[in-house]
This record gives sequence, structure tokens and C-alpha cells, in this order.
Amino acid sequence: MDAAEFRRRGREMVDYVADYLENIEQRPVYPDLEPGYLRPLIPAEAPLEPETFEDIMRDVERVIMPGVTHWQSPYFYAYFPAASSFPAMLADMLSGAIGCIGFSWAASPACTELETVMMDWLGRMLQLPECFIAETHGHGGGVIQGTASEATLMALLAARCKAIRRVQASSPETPEAEIFSKLVAYTSEQAHSSVERAALIGGVMMRKVPTDNSYAVRGDMLKKMLEEDKSAGLIPFYFCATLGTTPSCAFDRLTELGPICNEENVWMHVDAAYAGSAFICPEFRPLLNGIEFANSFNFNPHKWLLVNFDCSAMWVKNRADIIGAFKVEPLYLKHENQESGLVTDYRHWQIPLGRRFRSLKMWFVFRMYGLNGLQSHIRKEPTRQWFLPGCVPGTSTWSFNQMI
Ligand SMILES: *Cc1c(COP(=O)(O)O)cnc(C)c1O
Repeated sequence: MDAAEFRRRGREMVDYVADYLENIEQRPVYPDLEPGYLRPLIPAEAPLEPETFEDIMRDVERVIMPGVTHWQSPYFYAYFPAASSFPAMLADMLSGAIGCIGFSWAASPACTELETVMMDWLGRMLQLPECFIAETHGHGGGVIQGTASEATLMALLAARCKAIRRVQASSPETPEAEIFSKLVAYTSEQAHSSVERAALIGGVMMRKVPTDNSYAVRGDMLKKMLEEDKSAGLIPFYFCATLGTTPSCAFDRLTELGPICNEENVWMHVDAAYAGSAFICPEFRPLLNGIEFANSFNFNPHKWLLVNFDCSAMWVKNRADIIGAFKVEPLYLKHENQESGLVTDYRHWQIPLGRRFRSLKMWFVFRMYGLNGLQSHIRKEPTRQWFLPGCVPGTSTWSFNQMI
């Protein structure tokens, strides 16, 4: 495909996408198929000779579309909403064109710098405390992770490293393996499964904190468990609070939990994966109170803020905690100006090395909607927040609105 054909096919594809989304409600939202439907519809091996674009597009309708669950359909009420907007799609196209792999500042300065600034913009929309904003004094700052699961895991791993260093500093003779075996992480019994998974991947114990009759974790419940575990010789090091739990949209009591975590040297991570977008509206912002006590905070603009998957926004109060935990510097990734204070190398903030230019999606969406447009999206779209597949309309949104 040369540039001339790309121009033509690109226009056709944009038309196809616009037609698809304009008429999506005419398609059955959930495919009526048996597992294994696809293999017989296409050849067993990749073609030897090139095929035409027309052939492929015919097969999109013949093979792919009948097997798509149409998440963007107005009849889709499963799981959670997946944000989508035309500006985000166009930005993703540009990101594909630039095709950079922005793992360090030098690997594509705009990719890194726009991300830092977009995370500040979004942080200010949420009225995050200044300590999470990169511009202010450069200790905190934001990063785009692929998913909330990765953010939770990154926070747990950084906390684990910090805890090990802290214990080693006070008792240098204790072997690392012994400290490791005593570390305990905590989360609500109502937390998302990804939190438990983070502990499994991180190889640490995790205890589930019981909740009150609104399904929220309260300070006294966590405090009691911390005391029990400390007197059993264990080392509490991480608590993942949830704002907007998956089963019932409960909000853990950050203002009670935060001071306890800070006092006990327990890293508090806050997972607000789907509810977090609402905090851009002043009337919902009180639900984020207590965030000033958190070490890290995450929510998914790709759920409810018009930025297509994948875009999970994570902030840390002290970037050294996260960078210090994962810094490995092979010779082939060294660059002369990497040690200057202005240079962020996002590869130290995440698990993979490579990363896409995802902040373009945020930039296009934030500019084309404006904060007012985004706020009115939140105010008019809460009815799409059904959470459990097959749940009765009204449950999770209903509880969300009851909280406010
Ligand atoms: C959706 C959700 C997650 C998981 O999100 P991913 O980005 O898919 O990892 C975690 N926690 C909560 C509260 C969620 O709503």
C-alpha cells in the first residue's frame, strides 16, 4: 500500500467507522455463536501472495462483525462502559502514524512531555492536591498505565521495595527473604479481583478487610487487623482502598484510613477505576476527600471519560518511590541528558519498556470537549454504569447516586 492508496483507503475506513457507529443499534449487541465459529471461516494459513483491501473489508463484515460484542451499542449493559469518542480515535490514528516507542525522554521528547502535562491537566480537573502535580515541585506526577490492574501492581511493588528498605535500614542483619515473608498487604473484601492478583504476582500475603453495612472499609476495621498482624510479628506495608467498588460502588473511608496508613508506614493506593471520572464534577469531588493521604491514586479515563482504551491515569506523590524500585540502566538505554531534573524516563514507572503515545488521546479529547463538555458527559451518562452482566438496571448507578 503506497501513500496514494492509503489516502483513499483511509477515507473509506473513516466512512466505515462512522457508518458502523451511526447504525450500531441495528446490530445484535451480543453475538449468537458457538465457540470456535471463526476458524472454519478463514484459511488455515496466512496467504502466500498479497490480497486486496476489498477482500479484507468484505471479510470484516463476513467474519469479524458477526462475532463482535458491540460495547458501543446503546443496548450494551454488561461489565462497565468503555469510553469512546471520535477525537480519541483520530488521536490514536496519529499515534499510530508517529509510531514512536517512547520509553525514555530521548526516545521521543513530545511523547513524554505531553504525557506529564496531560496528567497535570487531568489532576487539576480532579483538584488533586498539589503534591501529585509534576509541575509544582517535581516530586509527584502522573503516568499513563494500560490498565488499573497494572497501576495497582506497580504501587504494590513500589511499596514492597520501600518497606524492605525501611526494615533493612533499622535492622541491617535481617535477610531480605525473611522480611519478604512477613510482608502483608490489605484490601477491602469488596475490592476488585485485580488487587488480589497484584498480591499473587508480587508474592506477598494479602488480607481482606471486612466492610460496614454500606460495604465500605472503615478506619477501625483496618486498624484492628494491623495491630493483630504486627503483634504476630508481621509487617503491614500496603493498603489498596477503593472508591467505587465493583459489586456495589462503595467508597472506603479515606479520611479515616489515610492517617492510619501514614502513621503505620503503610502505602495507601487508591483504586477509583470507574467512579474516578466523576470527580471532575465539583458536586462529586467530595468523594475524593482524603486523597491527600494516599501515596498513589489511579482511575481509568477509558471507562467513563471519552478516551478510548487503553488509558489508565496513575499519580504518585513521590516519584522517587516508584522509580527507585524499578531502575535498571543497561548501557544501550543510557542517554547523556537523562540525569537532569527535567527529564522523565517513563520506562521506570511501568512494567514494560515500550509505550505508545497515549497522551495524544487525552489532549484531543480535553481540548475538543473542554472541562464543561466532559462534566456534562458525566452528568448525562451515569445510566450506562451497569456493572454486573445481567444486573438489574438501576443497581450500581443507583448506589453511586445515593452516595452523593
Ligand atoms: C474496572 C476496574 C478495575 C480493573 O480495571 P482494568 O483497567 O481493566 O485493570 C479495577 N478496579 C475497579 C474498581 C474497576 O472498576
